[in-house]
Amino acid sequence: MATSRFATVALNVPLLPPLTYRIAETMSPCVGDRCVVPLGRRQEVGLIVALSDQTTIDPKKQKTIIRLLNETEPVSEIWLKLTRFAADYYQHSWGEVSIAALPTFFKTKPGPKYEQSLERLRKPYKEKKIDKPSGVLTLNDEQQLAVEAVDHAKGFAPYVLHGVTGSGKTEVYLRMMESLFIKKPDAQVLFLVPEINLTPQLEARIRNHFPDKPMASLHSGLANGERAKAWLAAKEKRIQILVGTRMAIFSDMPNLGLIVVDEEHDLSYKAGDGIRYSARDLAIKLAQLRQIPVILGSATPSLETWSRVKNGHYNLLSLTKRAVPGASLPTLSVVNPKNKKLIKGLTPEVIDAISETLQKKEQVIIFLNRRGYAPVLTCPSCGWLSKCPHCSTYAVYHKFHGKLVCHHCGWSIPVYSRCPDCGNVDLLPMGAGTQRIEETLEQLWPQARILRIDRDTTQRKNAAKEAFDAVHAGEVDILVGTQMVAKGHDFQKVSLVVVLNIDAQLVSSNPRSEERAFANLMQVAGRAGRFGLPAKMVVQSRFGDREIFAALAQQDYNRYADHLLKVRKEENSVPFVCQALLMADDANIGKALEFLKQALKVGTDLLEQQQNESVVIYDPIPMALMKLADKERAQLLVEASSRVAMGRFLRHWYRQLCEIGTSVHWTMDVDPMDV
Ligand code: ADP
Ligand code: ZN
Ligand code: ZN
Repeated sequence: MATSRFATVALNVPLLPPLTYRIAETMSPCVGDRCVVPLGRRQEVGLIVALSDQTTIDPKKQKTIIRLLNETEPVSEIWLKLTRFAADYYQHSWGEVSIAALPTFFKTKPGPKYEQSLERLRKPYKEKKIDKPSGVLTLNDEQQLAVEAVDHAKGFAPYVLHGVTGSGKTEVYLRMMESLFIKKPDAQVLFLVPEINLTPQLEARIRNHFPDKPMASLHSGLANGERAKAWLAAKEKRIQILVGTRMAIFSDMPNLGLIVVDEEHDLSYKAGDGIRYSARDLAIKLAQLRQIPVILGSATPSLETWSRVKNGHYNLLSLTKRAVPGASLPTLSVVNPKNKKLIKGLTPEVIDAISETLQKKEQVIIFLNRRGYAPVLTCPSCGWLSKCPHCSTYAVYHKFHGKLVCHHCGWSIPVYSRCPDCGNVDLLPMGAGTQRIEETLEQLWPQARILRIDRDTTQRKNAAKEAFDAVHAGEVDILVGTQMVAKGHDFQKVSLVVVLNIDAQLVSSNPRSEERAFANLMQVAGRAGRFGLPAKMVVQSRFGDREIFAALAQQDYNRYADHLLKVRKEENSVPFVCQALLMADDANIGKALEFLKQALKVGTDLLEQQQNESVVIYDPIPMALMKLADKERAQLLVEASSRVAMGRFLRHWYRQLCEIGTSVHWTMDVDPMDV
């Protein structure tokens, strides 16, 4: 076999296209192998993306691959295509994306114990105990239809599995996997979830359903070694089911036959820094490359996804009722706190509903999307407010730790015993967070067993699981918490859900804010009445007459989604336009804005040159949270009528931005979630 003389190597360097290196005579690399190459004075791990026999590079300047890393199979062609697509789409170099996508072990220069480490990574997973093989449920007609549709699918086939919480979506995913395994016993399945720490229930359910299918999970809670192990096991086909968070989209599964994206609307699928990819969107791309079905499941699909159902790009599978016989959805009442006699922020309606539920010995969930005791501490005598010195926001009062904490940058100090400005000793907490509500509940119902679940109470490993176990075991009467209480848990005895303080989300300027509020409300509503108890949901809000509550009362996602899409269309907003955000930060907002003004100028000229009328660039503005951790931030929004037009513009614009030469730090976010 004639061996190639040159290899093109992708390296983790911004803007750097893959570079060509000479191949030593002793080496016979494949496309997809890793290697160590010289780069300037450094040595870097790179990925071979092409081989050739010739190069135009001056022989004096040619450099040679130092070491070939081919103790593992090369990454697949499809994996290379996926990372290349992501690189082009999110405006990064191919090397930045492909190397970043590898687990640390595989992108680090091998040390002396490389071989032994590899061997250790290949040790089989310990058998996990199975609770009890699950009995076989008889699917209802809608579930059956969904499973059959996917079973008959040929090639690339995107589906949206839409069904309220408890409608049996998870059961459907399991049966879809099952019918795949019947057809192809060695097939692999990628199961994406938004937050793996909240889903031990799901893993156990999958294990019980497929006791003899090897399985692993991949998420940021794992140590580097464990991540490398799962990644390699998937690559070498030693596991067939991979359950993971967004990073798992970059696993390389040669026998991949099905992708599930559960809770596809969840924001966690979009990376918030580094390469800002959407694992959900890449899942679609991957399914296309592999020519397989992909299932996007949700009770409240994102409007992006819903609009693709409406225009026929995705097939809709609906589960319209709860799967367990007798389970119902809660009846809704919206209570306006205005002009009511409130007791510590609670309306009489809420207080009565809680008392009644406790009397019946049933459980209550109180949902409040704000942790801490009070969002701000004030001095009534001089007007002082507990501002964070590093951010344009307030430090939150955490009473039990006696601290003021900034939830944005993490800054904290012991709480002042007197006003730092005027010395007044009577500082006043304003507003209520989960801690304060917990305290109020303890005062109003001293005999009730109250448990708070939020990020503060669940920092310790297993703390969240223990807390949820206590709820399941019936050891808790009132569960109070943030979004964490809304997600995915199957509580047996909850018959009342109370929502406090959703209004902030209903008046936000972010166009996606209301969509998220609706998803939160539907999700928390899904916690009640799962097992036959008639259930109630009480929401305190000043906006009771809005469409969002009419739709919530009916649990009518379709109605609300159609309403929101109409509004977005009128406003010519996402998903009817594509967006990209150029963000700049500096110690001084002036400099950040100055850079963005240059970017605007360059962009406007480019559009003229391209005669590109499908792209609009808006004026630079300071971000809503202008200062964060001492950095002052500004943004520039770009909108385009199509992804193609956007891509064409961004590719050239990005290159020109790099030539501006500025000390200002800047990044680009394609399809940003917060605008
Ligand atoms: P989702 O994922 O939509 O929240 P699940 O699949 O978890 O729904 O189902 C909710 C509950 O209903 C679970 O306890 C599940 O075992 C049960 N279930 C699902 N499908 C059926 C069915 N066809 N018959 C009876 N119970 C079912
Ligand atoms: Zn004061
Ligand atoms: Zn701060």
